[in-house]
Amino acid sequence: MATTLVTGAEEIGWDLADLYTSAEDERLEADVSQAEADATAFSAQHHGKVAELDASGLAAALTELERIESSVVRALTYAHLHFATNMADPARGALVARLGEKAASLETQLLFFPLEWAAVDDDAAEALLGEAALDDWRHHLRGLRKFRPYLLSEPEEKIVTEKSVSGVAAWSRLYEEQLGALRVSLDDEEQSLEVAMSRLYEHQRELRREAADAITEALGPGLRTRTYVFNTILQDKSIDDRLRSYPTWISSRNLSNETTDEAVEALVEAATSRYDVPQRYYRLKAKLLGIDRLEHYDRFAPVSDDTEKTSWDEAQQIVVEAYSGFSEEAGSIVSRFFDDSWIDAPVRPDKRTGAFCATTVPGVHPYILMNYTGDRRSILTLAHELGHGLHGVLSQPLGLFNSSTPLTTAETASVFGEALTFDRLLAGEDDPRRRLDLLTGRIEDAIATTFRQIAMNRFEHATHTERRKQGELASDRIAELWLEAQRALFGDSVGLDGYDPWWSYIPHFTGSPGYVYAYAYGYLFSLAIYRKYVQEGDSMVEPYLDLLRAGGSRSPEELAELVGLDLTDPAIWASGIDALAEELDEAERLGAEIGLGSD
Ligand SMILES: [Zn+2]
Repeated sequence: MATTLVTGAEEIGWDLADLYTSAEDERLEADVSQAEADATAFSAQHHGKVAELDASGLAAALTELERIESSVVRALTYAHLHFATNMADPARGALVARLGEKAASLETQLLFFPLEWAAVDDDAAEALLGEAALDDWRHHLRGLRKFRPYLLSEPEEKIVTEKSVSGVAAWSRLYEEQLGALRVSLDDEEQSLEVAMSRLYEHQRELRREAADAITEALGPGLRTRTYVFNTILQDKSIDDRLRSYPTWISSRNLSNETTDEAVEALVEAATSRYDVPQRYYRLKAKLLGIDRLEHYDRFAPVSDDTEKTSWDEAQQIVVEAYSGFSEEAGSIVSRFFDDSWIDAPVRPDKRTGAFCATTVPGVHPYILMNYTGDRRSILTLAHELGHGLHGVLSQPLGLFNSSTPLTTAETASVFGEALTFDRLLAGEDDPRRRLDLLTGRIEDAIATTFRQIAMNRFEHATHTERRKQGELASDRIAELWLEAQRALFGDSVGLDGYDPWWSYIPHFTGSPGYVYAYAYGYLFSLAIYRKYVQEGDSMVEPYLDLLRAGGSRSPEELAELVGLDLTDPAIWASGIDALAEELDEAERLGAEIGLGSD
C-alpha cells in the first residue's frame, strides 16, 4: 500500500506489553478465569443479601466488585486496542468478540448487586450513605440509584444485558467495520477515509472538491447497509426507552451524563439561537478565500497558502511545551506518552479511523490511538487526546469506579489541552496571514465542537423522534433530516450539494446515541475554565489539576465549584459562545487590516 504522507509518525507504534505481552499471554486468560471464579464467589456471598449489608460491608463488597471488573476491563481493553490497529485480522476480531461475551456474562452475573442496591428504599439508603465508611463510594452509590425509576426486574435486566451482545453491540460493531473498510478513490489510489478527509484542508479548491466528490461516491455503495444498521439501532433504543419508561430519547443519556433534560435543552437553545455566529464566520471565510459562497468542502480550507506538514517530532515538542508551560507536572506526564510508547501514531490501512484515548484500565496508564497526518488539526487532535491521557493518569488512583467520568466532563481536559496548544502555536507565529489562518482554524474547531455538534444533536433528535412515530426511515428521508439540520446551522452561508450521505460516516450516531451534545457541553465548560485561567493565571493551576484528579468521583456541578464556576447557571453556555464571537470580531478585524480578499 502506497502512503503519500511522511511525517516520521510511520514507525511510532504503541507497546501494549504493560497490559499483556501478546494475545497469547497466559496472564490474559488467567485474569479472565480468576475474575469468573471471583464473580461466582461474590455472587454466592451477596446475591439476595445486598439490602442486609451495613456501611462497612457495602464498602468491602464494592472494593471486591471493582477488583473483579478491573481484571475484565484490562483484558477487554487489550483486545480492543490490539484489534484497533488491524481490524482486518480475524483473530483479533475474534478475541474482542470472545472477551466481550465473557464480560457481558460476568456483568450479567454481577448485575444483582447494583439492582439490589437500587431497590433498597430511600430512607435506608440515605442512612447508610451518611456513614463515614462510605465516604469513597457515596457518589458512585448515589449514581447507581439514579436509574432506579427506569430499571426492569432482575431477570429482565439479565436478559437485556445478555442479548445486547448479539443485538445492539453487534450492530454497532458491524457499522464500525463498514466504516473501517471504506476506501476512497483519489489520484487512482485507494485511500482511507482519514486521508481523503485531510484533503478538505488543502489549499486548492479543486483538490478539496475532488476529495469531497470522491468521499460522497465512496459513501454510496454501503449506504443501504448503513441505513439499515442505523434504523435497527434507532429501533433498539426506542424499545429500550419504552420498556424503561424514559420520557424522551435523550433522557437516559442525560441521566448517565449526570445532567438533566432541562440543562441540555438550555444548552441546545443557547447554541441554536446563535447560529448567526457560524453563518457570519462562513461569510467572512468566503471573502477571505475570494469566493462568492462556501461549499461544504470549503469549510476547512486554509486562508493562507501554508500547506506545510508538521513532523511527528515537532508536534511532540509543541504539545509537550504547551502542557509544561501550564504546569511542570502536566508536562512530565504528557512526555511519558511519547517516551514510553503509549501512542500508536500513524495512518495505516485497516486501522481504526479517528483518534481516541483508552483511559479506563486500572493500574495501567492510558493508551492513545492517532491517525497522524501532519496537518495542524492533527497536532491539536494529539493535544486533545493527551488531555484525556493526563486526566486518566491523574484520576487513576481513585480506581475504576471513581475515575470514570460522565461524557459531560470527559472532554474537560482534552479541550483545555487543545486551548493551551493553540495559544502556544499562536504565540510562535508572527506572520499576520498565518496568525489569521490559525485564528480561523481555532474558530472553525470551536464551531465544529459546539454548533456543529448541536446541529448533529438536532439530526439525532429528528431521526429518533421520527423513527418512533413512523417506523423505518428510508435513506432519502435520513438524508433530508440531515440536510435540514445542516441548513439550519449554515443558513445560506454554505452550499450543501453532494452532502446528503455524509451523516453516515459519523460513528457516534450508531455507537453512542445522544453522545454528540456532550462535546458542546464539555467544550463550553472547559472554555469557561480556560478563560478563568487566562484571566487569573497560576492560581488556577492547582484547582484545575484537582478537578482532573477528582475524575468522576463528584458531579459536574461539584467539579465546577472546585474551579469557582456555577454549572447550574445557563449563562455559562452563553459566555462561551460570546467568547467565540469575540474571536470572530478579531478575525474580521485582522482580515480587513491585511486586506485579504480585496485582491
Ligand atoms: Zn475527546
